[in-house]
Amino acid sequence: MTRRDFLWLAGMSSAGLAASGSLVGCATDPVTGQPRLMLMSEEEEVAIDREHAPHQFSNDYGVVQDARLNAYLTEVGQSIAAVSHRPHMPYSYQAVNANYVNAYTFPGGTMACTRGILVDMDDEAELAALLGHETGHVTARHTARRQTQQLLTAIAIGGVTIAAGQSDRLSGYSGAIYAVGALSAGALLASYSRSNEREADALGLDYMVEAGHDPEGMVDLMAMLQNLSSRDPNALELMFSTHPMSSERFNTAKRQARNHPSYDRTQGRERYMDNTANLRRIRPTIKTLQAGEADMARERYSDAETKFAQALKQVPDDYCGLLLMAQCQTAQGKHREADKYLAEAKAAYPGEAKALHLSGVNHLALNRPEAALADFEAYERNLPGNPNTLFLKGVANENMQNRRAASEHYRRYVQLAGDTEQARYAAQRLQAWES
Ligand SMILES: [Zn+2]
Repeated sequence: MTRRDFLWLAGMSSAGLAASGSLVGCATDPVTGQPRLMLMSEEEEVAIDREHAPHQFSNDYGVVQDARLNAYLTEVGQSIAAVSHRPHMPYSYQAVNANYVNAYTFPGGTMACTRGILVDMDDEAELAALLGHETGHVTARHTARRQTQQLLTAIAIGGVTIAAGQSDRLSGYSGAIYAVGALSAGALLASYSRSNEREADALGLDYMVEAGHDPEGMVDLMAMLQNLSSRDPNALELMFSTHPMSSERFNTAKRQARNHPSYDRTQGRERYMDNTANLRRIRPTIKTLQAGEADMARERYSDAETKFAQALKQVPDDYCGLLLMAQCQTAQGKHREADKYLAEAKAAYPGEAKALHLSGVNHLALNRPEAALADFEAYERNLPGNPNTLFLKGVANENMQNRRAASEHYRRYVQLAGDTEQARYAAQRLQAWES
């Protein structure tokens, strides 16, 4: 395999999925109680959530294996959900192993906080503000509204007929939503508008206060984020691209917090400290990994490697650290070194899909297609529903001279993938083998 081939395979995201659905029309806005044109039903919101969230979590190096921490996030999150405009949604709350500073929600209420943001907060009221804001995105149905807007735009520019014509299985509007609904997990997280943010802030503040959390927590959370962004803009890049921050948001929170009663925060602070103790113990490691990731983004691999090595010296079995080191090695073409870190990562977090994906691709680079295939099969068992895995299994089978199995995988991939470089390659192989 050439280096170019490797990069091409490595570049296949482990989370590229399509969302589709049918139309529903007018719905009652849960927040205002007014009718609102909504082309995504609640069932679809939940279905999209269930389909995408596991892939995003794996992209973020899996759920933190700390039952106490996750139970604590759930407890604080549930207190907010209970007083929200959509208490019946299937909310869930987890910490993920990513080091960047962010929190996000899927439209059904599956939420995650990165360990990066959890170690930068120090109070339950801040956590309540964060989860309150995310809950506001769910109750105001911001994802469904954006999807509706995109579909209306597609109709307005005449996209419907073209899109509908492309799909035999779907017709009319469904065809259109199939086309515009082709969002990757990343795209589902992509930017809310400023007015969405304003609304989520206001709802979040109401909910957290109603649930008994001090409103100043919202002000402190925003102050922390603003502070961090002036010191270390890289760590917050993704957070601000999904949740645009502004001094206006900060000032509004300050003004609105004053309209609510305040609560004593001593106990909440203690609870937060107790329940995040395991994470806070490795805060320096998380910060070092953050800095290494910033080096990686600038292609300064030897600087990144030094930082990852330092982090792994502190916490040798850190799953995220091991995978970052492996990615840093593969970026430098050092596949044998990467293999060692990938094996350690697989042992550190058995069954977590990201290590299996990266390990499979690295095995292809090392010309070990059998081992690669075993990884991709394990990946699929643990995290089904990623069409890219079909392609990778096709490549592994092709390298094993197993043409029949390779054709089968390539054929299924071509049907699902749309027009990608990989699909063109697969189609070309199929054609060559048929003739
Ligand atoms: Zn937001």
